[in-house]
Amino acid sequence: MTDYNAPLKDLNFVINELAGLQEISKLPGFEHATDDLLEPILEEASRFAREVLGPTNTVGDQGGCRVKDGVVSVPSELSEAYQLFVEGGWQGLDCSAEHGGMGLPVLIGSATAEMWQGANLALGLCPMLTAGAIETIEAHASEELKQLYLEKMISGEWTGTMDLTEPQAGSDLAAIKTQAVPDTGHYIISGTKIFITWGDHEMTENVVHLVLARLPDAPEGIRGISLFLVPKFLVNDDGSLGDRNDVFVTSVEHKLGIHASPTCVLNYGDNGGAIGYLIGQENRGLACMFTMMNLARLQVGIQGLAVSERSYQAARDYAKERVQGEVLGSPGPARIIQHPDVRRMLMTMKSLIEAMRATAYVTAATIDISRHTEDADVRNEASGRTALLTPIVKGWLTEVAQELTSIGVQIHGGTGFVEETGAAQYLRDARILTIYEGTTGIQANDLVGRKILADSGLAMQHLLKEIAELDPVLASCGPELESIRSAVATGRQRLEEATNWLLGKTQDKPDAVYLAAFDYLMLAGTVVGAWQMGRAAEIAHKKLAGNDGDAEFHKAKVITARFYAEEILPRSAGYFEAATSDSSSAMDLQEDQF
Ligand SMILES: Cc1cc2nc3c(=O)[nH]c(=O)nc-3n(C[C@H](O)[C@H](O)[C@H](O)COP(=O)(O)OP(=O)(O)OC[C@H]3O[C@@H](n4cnc5c(N)ncnc54)[C@H](O)[C@@H]3O)c2cc1C
Repeated sequence: MTDYNAPLKDLNFVINELAGLQEISKLPGFEHATDDLLEPILEEASRFAREVLGPTNTVGDQGGCRVKDGVVSVPSELSEAYQLFVEGGWQGLDCSAEHGGMGLPVLIGSATAEMWQGANLALGLCPMLTAGAIETIEAHASEELKQLYLEKMISGEWTGTMDLTEPQAGSDLAAIKTQAVPDTGHYIISGTKIFITWGDHEMTENVVHLVLARLPDAPEGIRGISLFLVPKFLVNDDGSLGDRNDVFVTSVEHKLGIHASPTCVLNYGDNGGAIGYLIGQENRGLACMFTMMNLARLQVGIQGLAVSERSYQAARDYAKERVQGEVLGSPGPARIIQHPDVRRMLMTMKSLIEAMRATAYVTAATIDISRHTEDADVRNEASGRTALLTPIVKGWLTEVAQELTSIGVQIHGGTGFVEETGAAQYLRDARILTIYEGTTGIQANDLVGRKILADSGLAMQHLLKEIAELDPVLASCGPELESIRSAVATGRQRLEEATNWLLGKTQDKPDAVYLAAFDYLMLAGTVVGAWQMGRAAEIAHKKLAGNDGDAEFHKAKVITARFYAEEILPRSAGYFEAATSDSSSAMDLQEDQF
């Protein structure tokens, strides 16, 4: 089985050349985030992912997790790896320095997150959720809660969870019923949450739940939801652990993938009520939770990228070794990587992965800019871009991950379908990614509803303008990049027309917009990916001409970008046609005809 190796060359290229680390390190608060500090950090993270986290992936998949007498256990190898993660201070990398973090950009946190998720996606979920909880507490909780909880969470000694889902409230959070009754200095929480990732475990001494609940007199719907911090163990004023709180796991789910991640049913208040503390204002909880959800959406997109990368590495190594058949014009046994169709599959994986990585990291960079710039116009532009790209990163990257991890199995042939190579696990693990943290349907609705229509297409227009600016730059590179130039221009044109089509539909046919939403999202992802690959090709081309840096890597980048332009971008025609078809057949069929 192939070991996981973080793709450091591409990571460094994307971080520096596409996401603009140099510009980010000029922003107030990021002066220390320079290349000479970051390079060794990424190298050490890569070693940690390969040597410590990676080897736990199969063990976790096979061992799974259990609950016995209310105690959740995971294989000891995972627990040991997590302790080393805490000792290495990895959780705090991109957390604020005020409470013990290193204060590095989200861009760098995204790169290490890709490594954790590539090495072991089920385990990687734990620090991912802790990171979201830390952000939410930092942004919205009282000083007192920050003082009591943040240091231990940033060190990784306590983990965090996100407790939204209830049996009747999945995509529709307005249906949440968990109750919060005001008491002296706190609230009493009661209800049941389901599907809570790392909802309980013994890897750390405390688990901090961020719980959505409703006050007794709260308005109906999402305007009546509040957010609470509910620790597994209460915390005394001096920071020491107090009584066990009334939140207990009743079961963990048996699932298709991510076996080592406990997906818990949690009962609050079976013994009188769990003590919870309000975060933000009463009835304004969903807005606070969106801090956590937005980061989680970027991170789940990165999970899609990471598991695709791991699947690719395994498929590539297998294809270089497996001998089967002959290649025309070259007598003698061939390794399967020599067959045109296998090379097509590998290039599909490689080119989409590179486009996904660039799209995710460029989005992470917009978060850093929007948080640290002192220029209000730049801040508005960057936060509009983050909002626009977040559902694309979550939706497109995770949908593509389904295709790529499936190709990973295909390249292995029958061996891929049995469990020994790991290829099957990557496909199973990837399957959840389009479901949790908002299904693709919900991301697509968010994209067309909130990010295009509610914005009158403004953020998208800015994006389209920037994509157009690449055209003369690519044209100046000559015939080698012509197919890339032409593909980016065609994709951009389709995205613009589809956007105008959406904007024109709001009044007469609101259904049409939501029927088109998925294809529009996939179109946007495919075109943004092409834009990033176009940028990458132009930079690599220039570096090759100037004899600057790793020529092999830059040559491969240009070829991979050409493949994306010639073989992947044409998909945008199908998405465009489907999105703008004006067909309502999906709605025309009566329910009983399904
Ligand atoms: C392994 C795992 C881990 C999870 N971890 C967590 C966690 O840590 N915390 C947490 O709170 N939750 C968690 N969840 C829950 C997860 O976020 C939900 O499963 C997800 O949001 C979908 O909700 P649902 O399962 O109720 O599906 P439903 O909401 O019933 O959706 C079913 C289908 O209907 C579609 N649909 C529903 N509404 C709409 C709409 N308005 N427009 C278009 N299509 C729609 C969906 O896209 C989907 O295809 C986890 C789930 C799993 C399986």
